[in-house]
Amino acid sequence: MKELASRIKKIKPSPTLAINAKAKAMRDKGLPVINLAGGEPDFDTPDHIKEGAIKALKEGFTKYTPSSGILELKEAICQKLYEENGLLYTPQEIIVTCGGKQALYNAFMALFEEGDEVIIPAPYWVSYPAMALLAGARPVIVKTEEAEGFKVKKEALQEVITERTKAIIINSPSNPSGTVYTEKDLWEIAELALQHDLWIISDEVYEHLIFDNLKHVSIASLSPEIKERTLVVNAVSKTYSMSGWRIGFAAGPKELISAMEIIQSQSTSNPTSFAQKGALEALRGSKDFIHHMREEFEKRRDHFYELITSIPQISCFKPQGAFYLFPNFGSYCEKPFKDDGELCLYLLEKALVATVPGSEFGTPGFLRLSFTVKTEELEEAAKRIRQALEGL
Ligand code: PLP
Repeated sequence: MKELASRIKKIKPSPTLAINAKAKAMRDKGLPVINLAGGEPDFDTPDHIKEGAIKALKEGFTKYTPSSGILELKEAICQKLYEENGLLYTPQEIIVTCGGKQALYNAFMALFEEGDEVIIPAPYWVSYPAMALLAGARPVIVKTEEAEGFKVKKEALQEVITERTKAIIINSPSNPSGTVYTEKDLWEIAELALQHDLWIISDEVYEHLIFDNLKHVSIASLSPEIKERTLVVNAVSKTYSMSGWRIGFAAGPKELISAMEIIQSQSTSNPTSFAQKGALEALRGSKDFIHHMREEFEKRRDHFYELITSIPQISCFKPQGAFYLFPNFGSYCEKPFKDDGELCLYLLEKALVATVPGSEFGTPGFLRLSFTVKTEELEEAAKRIRQALEGL
C-alpha cells in the first residue's frame, strides 16, 4: 500500500480533544473524574437561540446556503462589529464558517505557503502551529514570560521578524493564559506589522469573557491602515455557549475573504443552515445571558485562583479573561516528574483530575485548568490536586 501524505506526519490530533476523550472514558467506567481539560462553557445555549434554529428547521430551512453564509447573518455580524468593536465592514468583507476554527483554517490556507513564516506567541492555542504546518508554513514561536503577564514584547518580535515573515497571530483574551492586551500593547504590535508589511490574524473568540472591568479592544479598530491588514476572527461558540453549533465568522479585506470563501466552497460548502439561523438569533437577541455567564466565570476565577495559588510551590498569573487558569507547576515538573505531561497523567490517575500540559501550548512546566465546571467541583479538584502533590 502506498503511504499517506507526508503532511499528516507533521501534526498530531488536538491534545485537548484527546485528553477530554480519555477523561470521558474513565468516567464511563464509573471513576469520578473532574474534567478541567474542557474548552467550552458549561452553560446551556439560551432558549431563544435554540428556538430560532427550531423555527428554521420547521420552516424547511434545511438546504445548502450560500457558501460564505446567509446575508442576514452577515448583516447582523456587521452590526455587531460596528456596535461592539467600532469596526465598519460590509457583508462582502464577512465570511460565516463552521466555527472560529474553520475561519482560521481557511485563512491559513489562503495566506500561507511553503517558505512563509508565521509568528505565534506562546502560550498559544494548540491549533495555530498545526494549521501553519498544514499550510506548509513555518510556525515561529515567540516565548512570553509569566512575570510579564504572558504578553509578547515588541523587542522579542523584532528579533524573529525576517523577509519571510508573513503574519502574526494575536489572541486576546488568550487561551490558555487569560492575558488581555490593552490598546497600548496592541499599538506596539500594529506598528511592527505596518513597518514590516505583515498580516495580523486577531482571534477574538473570548472577547466577552473578560474580567476586572477590562475592555476588549480589537486591533483592527486602531486605524484604517491596520484594519486593511487584519483578519478579525470570532465565533458564537464561547460567547453564547454554542460550541457544538459550529458557527464562527471572520471579517477582513475583500480579497482575503473571497479567497477563504473559495476554500470553504471546495471543502465544507457552507455552515449548517439552521445553525446560522440560531446564530442570527444570538446576535440580534438579548445580551443578558452573556452578562450572567461572564459574572459567573469571574466569581469562579477568583475562587479557583485563591485555591490553586495556596498550594505550595505554585504560582499563577491571574487570568483577565477566558475561562482557564494557567498555573506554573515548574517545581513539580523537574522532580519527581520528568515533565508536565507526566504530571498531567499523574493527576489524572491519582487525583482523578483531568488537565492539559502546558507543553501542548508551547509552554512546558505549566498546566491548563478550565473553570468550566461548578464551584463545588473546582473546590474538590483543588483539594485533590493539593493532596496528590503533598509529600511528593
Ligand atoms: N480560538 C481559540 C483561542 C479557541 O480557544 C478556540 C476553541 O477552543 C477557537 C479559536 C475555535 O473556536 P470554535 O469552537 O468556534 O471553532
